[in-house]
Amino acid sequence: MHFGWAKDLTIICLLIYLAKLGLLRFCFEVHIGHVGHEIRTCTGEKSGFRSATHIWRKGSVQDVVFFPKCYHLYDRAVKPRVGHDEKHDIPRIPAILELCIQAGVDLEKYPTKRRTKPVYNIEGRIVDFESVKEMNEVKTGLSTRSSDNFVKSDFGIELEGTSKSSFLRKLSNTLDQQYEVDTEVRQLSIQTLDSWLEMVSGAKKIMEKYMVQTCGYCPEVQVGPKGHKVRMCRASKHQSRNGLHAWQEAMIDDLVGPNYVWHVRDLEAPPLDNKLKRYYGKVPAVVELCVQAGAPIPDQYRSMMRLDVVCPDSDEVDLVA
Ligand SMILES: [Zn+2]
Ligand SMILES: [Zn+2]
Ligand SMILES: [Zn+2]
Repeated sequence: MHFGWAKDLTIICLLIYLAKLGLLRFCFEVHIGHVGHEIRTCTGEKSGFRSATHIWRKGSVQDVVFFPKCYHLYDRAVKPRVGHDEKHDIPRIPAILELCIQAGVDLEKYPTKRRTKPVYNIEGRIVDFESVKEMNEVKTGLSTRSSDNFVKSDFGIELEGTSKSSFLRKLSNTLDQQYEVDTEVRQLSIQTLDSWLEMVSGAKKIMEKYMVQTCGYCPEVQVGPKGHKVRMCRASKHQSRNGLHAWQEAMIDDLVGPNYVWHVRDLEAPPLDNKLKRYYGKVPAVVELCVQAGAPIPDQYRSMMRLDVVCPDSDEVDLVA
């Protein structure tokens, strides 16, 4: 089987095909490309009846990246743990946005208390040397505080479904819009990938100073020195924890939901072959999307893509196995 049309079609059709992410109906596997892969890793409903072959449908921007939410803390030093009874009163926002807020970004909608003096914990009692300030004071006058340059406003977060910041906007454009000029698509994919890399490296740097917690059993995250106390964990052994999450230190992937996908080296080749899966690499879906749309492969992803591995043809695999 050969997909000879791919390069011969106009960029519009090519981009449409590239953008049609396959997303399985019964599990969460994502694939970037004009056809789904044939790697048998489906664990979804009734996958046993189809030898773990995935069933594909068109995906959307949420399948490429997602930003898990956490509680917004007004005062991370004195009140870092949201209690179970407060669960409906405290807003949940994308954890990466909460990370930026705690590290210095001021948003009027999500005020947070900034301190110039430290808080001490003396024999279990919190001693706050800062006089109690009004909420209004906290909101204003502190926007010059963010000394670190990477804490700007360009972290790709969709706020309340209305205003999209540049990263998500670029990503949506890469997915949805039909461009007539080859170079324009390529340019867009380069910008999108740049934004992603900047966001990830920035978030990593912030996480060296500002802790993020994640549950060891489920994807729940919380930015702050400790996890929350809301009893909502449904993952294994939650009965023994009375529904509390089992908090541990989070990694960057807990915050940016990268959705690792198989890397397709040759867009013109037949679908990825189950027999050859040990030769394939995986990368975050957004990286794969941008690379397929023309962005150069970032150095840090080359080994994950297994570009150093020579992949045999499908009919040769029995010989090398
Ligand atoms: Zn072809
Ligand atoms: Zn599946
Ligand atoms: Zn949990």
